[in-house]
Amino acid sequence: MLVLHDPTTLTHQTVELLGSSLIPALESPERITSILSYLATTHHEVRTIHAPPEHSPSSPCPPATDGLDLDRLLAITHKADYLAHLRTVHASAAAAGLIDTSASLLPECFPPRDLGPSKAPSDPWARLGWFAFDMSSGIGAGTWAATRATVLGDGDEENKLSVLALTRPPGHHCTTTQAGGYCYVNNAVVAVAAVRALNGVNSQIAILDLDFHHGNGTQGVYYEDQDVMYVSLHGKDEYPYYTGAEEEEGEEPGEGMNVNIPLPVKCSAERYVEELEGGLRVIDGFQPDCLLVSLGFDTFHLDPLGGFALDTPDYKVIGQRVRRSFRGPAVLLLEGGYVLDRLGPNLGAFLEGWIVGDREIWRGGKKWRKK
Ligand SMILES: [Zn+2]
Repeated sequence: MLVLHDPTTLTHQTVELLGSSLIPALESPERITSILSYLATTHHEVRTIHAPPEHSPSSPCPPATDGLDLDRLLAITHKADYLAHLRTVHASAAAAGLIDTSASLLPECFPPRDLGPSKAPSDPWARLGWFAFDMSSGIGAGTWAATRATVLGDGDEENKLSVLALTRPPGHHCTTTQAGGYCYVNNAVVAVAAVRALNGVNSQIAILDLDFHHGNGTQGVYYEDQDVMYVSLHGKDEYPYYTGAEEEEGEEPGEGMNVNIPLPVKCSAERYVEELEGGLRVIDGFQPDCLLVSLGFDTFHLDPLGGFALDTPDYKVIGQRVRRSFRGPAVLLLEGGYVLDRLGPNLGAFLEGWIVGDREIWRGGKKWRKK
């Protein structure tokens, strides 16, 4: 498997409010370095990539001619004022003497639900609350550079049938106007834009979200989209709390394209795989041109933020089932997973299963043909 990694993604390091404690964020650079250490012992090809220099902030929207331009993909998928906030807020606050350059910024308050302002306020602390929906997504000195760099993995044009991007920070909670759940830009949304830039705006894309937490951001973006199917298996009534119910099925013209499969905490591997098979059948009925997998490992039984009863060998079964059901182009994007010393083995098991699924496809002579 080709695995893409940009070292700039390691520059993001921040704090979060977890329960009643302010702690170094569990979503840490060590997540990626532990995966890289593990992958170095395997046969997978890890390719180091580097984001190109950023376009001038005075002309943030790059020419429309380059469909895969990193900043253009960001500009067409996320709101301009939100991106400007991510890009500038830390340096501005440090220059104004509000924080030390080594500190992280967290919101101080959030807009009232019914009486909130209609546009972003000017006060920097108020803006932090406007552009975030929780206190798990602090902004440090390296946050913007890391966030922007993680996008390149999505847009990398590569003539491979499946690619894994070690996206960090993760993406599926970002709504494209607000950060939350460790997510600053939605990597799956950017990847969809990249696929559409390459293959046409009507490309049919399925997103399979296997993180323990519901991908509220991804669901929201495609809730009325008839060309993007979103299927998520996640912890019932868990973070992000307000989304992820079975009844959320999408709205016209995307009605029926949103499939939520909430499962109880400590759900067994047998039940999980059974429910996964159901989700895969729905995707098979859609016959997408491309599959994106939001791949989280906080479904692991020891994860501090998640927890189904999945163990390392189960990820091999999961990877195999997913690949066996869809033989077309696929992009795997890393989401959560917080047991540092098990992230590599769990990801490795998933990739091994994926490769087994690939072999089954080829042995069966079922070659992928574009519709
Ligand atoms: Zn998660």
